[in-house]
Amino acid sequence: MTSRVPWPEGKRFAFTAFDDPDACSPGSRMVYRFLADLGFRTTMGVWPLGPLRERNCPGETCADPGYREYLAEMQSLGFEIGYHNAAPHYCVREEIVRGFELLREYFGAYPLCATNHFNTDALYWGSARLHPGWCRSVYDLVTRGRQRSRFQGHVESSPYFWGDLCQRHIRYFRNFVYREIDTLKACPFQPYADPERPYVHGWFCSAEGTDGRAFVKTISEANQDRLEEEGGMCIMYTHFGKGFVENGKIEPEFGRLMQRLSRKPGWFAPVTAVLDHLHSVQGTQIIPPRVLARMESRWLRSKLLHGTT
Ligand SMILES: [Zn+2]
Repeated sequence: MTSRVPWPEGKRFAFTAFDDPDACSPGSRMVYRFLADLGFRTTMGVWPLGPLRERNCPGETCADPGYREYLAEMQSLGFEIGYHNAAPHYCVREEIVRGFELLREYFGAYPLCATNHFNTDALYWGSARLHPGWCRSVYDLVTRGRQRSRFQGHVESSPYFWGDLCQRHIRYFRNFVYREIDTLKACPFQPYADPERPYVHGWFCSAEGTDGRAFVKTISEANQDRLEEEGGMCIMYTHFGKGFVENGKIEPEFGRLMQRLSRKPGWFAPVTAVLDHLHSVQGTQIIPPRVLARMESRWLRSKLLHGTT
């Protein structure tokens, strides 16, 4: 763990985002053209399969050839294609396997970076995000035990199991999200391994930006300046389908703040590239249990107070 990471190309900090596809639509595609023009290169979470049954969420899927074409165009500009479970509804193992194969067919390679959607096939999610202990007990109490075995991607005996595929294909997986622009400050041990969650090679954390309003708050002028000063790293957790376009235009405050950020000497690469760089500098370390316990309680406090993910 280094206190200050030397970023590539002499840049002073890193900024990127993992965009979950919830609620994305043809109307929200302009966000990417805007980001591309400013020089940002981020990670686009996708669902490889179209709806096979009732959805739990709106949003485009790779079953739509027009959407695939647009994703491929963004990929050719340097954006990364990430995994957000196989579809906007639960999927069983054979569907998940098909999803991975389709992604390789569509985009030339399996995805390297992933986040959970709230499907039954989500992995180490709900109560399983937390280690047995007081945090998990409080969480179970607040959620009335409903999240205890709801998510089963990591449960070998479950029809929703895909932990081995995650281990084979996915290099980095998101867990905790904090109301802190500097994701390295929230967790200096990134990417980190957790021996009790062996299907994930490297975990990463993110900064709160679930919708336009939350995103703008996190990238405020003061926060941007601090990120630069401290030489930190920001991986935004976001849904670019939620509140970034207004009346067919980029939401003005988001636009202004991103323009300001783009003029700073930041390294604007996708999530896997940023984490690969961190891995080359400080390795993927086994996170000390004490540090993880602190991260869990900080996350839980924030979730209880603000309802963040
Ligand atoms: Zn989602």
